[in-house]
Amino acid sequence: MKIGILAIQGSVIEHARAIDNAGAQAVEVRTCRDLEGIRGLVMPGGESTTIGKLLKLEGLDVEIAKRVKKGMGVYGTCAGAILLAKEIVGGQKALNLGLMNIQIQRNAYGRQLDSFETELDIPALGKSPVPAVFIRAPKIVSTGAGVEILAECNGEIVMCQENNILVTTFHPEMTDDLRVHKYFINIAKGTAGSPHALPSELLFSKQLSRKLAKC
Ligand code: GLN
Repeated sequence: MKIGILAIQGSVIEHARAIDNAGAQAVEVRTCRDLEGIRGLVMPGGESTTIGKLLKLEGLDVEIAKRVKKGMGVYGTCAGAILLAKEIVGGQKALNLGLMNIQIQRNAYGRQLDSFETELDIPALGKSPVPAVFIRAPKIVSTGAGVEILAECNGEIVMCQENNILVTTFHPEMTDDLRVHKYFINIAKGTAGSPHALPSELLFSKQLSRKLAKC
């Protein structure tokens, strides 16, 4: 199964390695043509303003939105999450595809120096804590109907899902833990036919994940 990695900026190699090690085949996506034949797309972190501009230049913003609405899985990490949000709040704007029912605020933890590493409890991914790296991360300030919160850290939402759309404000690709990527591969598999057709293993983990965890 092919999973695309948006290869405009950010930790493309790290995401590709994680997707390969998690059991799918990573392919780099730079043009609309590269989206052919992929079941899911990872949108890495980076600088959301720059990524947004380059997406638009290639027409990828429109093509990605079209495919996600048809059920293609998409996973946004950090800047990727900003691009997927319905609304960017606060002063700093960027292009947003408006696909996920969340409001997000850029650079909400402060400056680069306020980046940090921690471990998260994510019930949907199992019992042991998941290492997470936050790099000039945004904050998901609110979620709307249909969005499932999968993890929180100090009261902030750091991972959530709306059908075939997954976002994390942290970078799992900077660690050796493959569970977030495996979870996304399952989402991409489940959305092959319909955005709402999640496999039963996922539905089970979604129920489990209702029990929110704090880091
Ligand atoms: N600070 C970046 C932005 O607002 C996101 C940082 C990241 O992706 N690690 O676009």
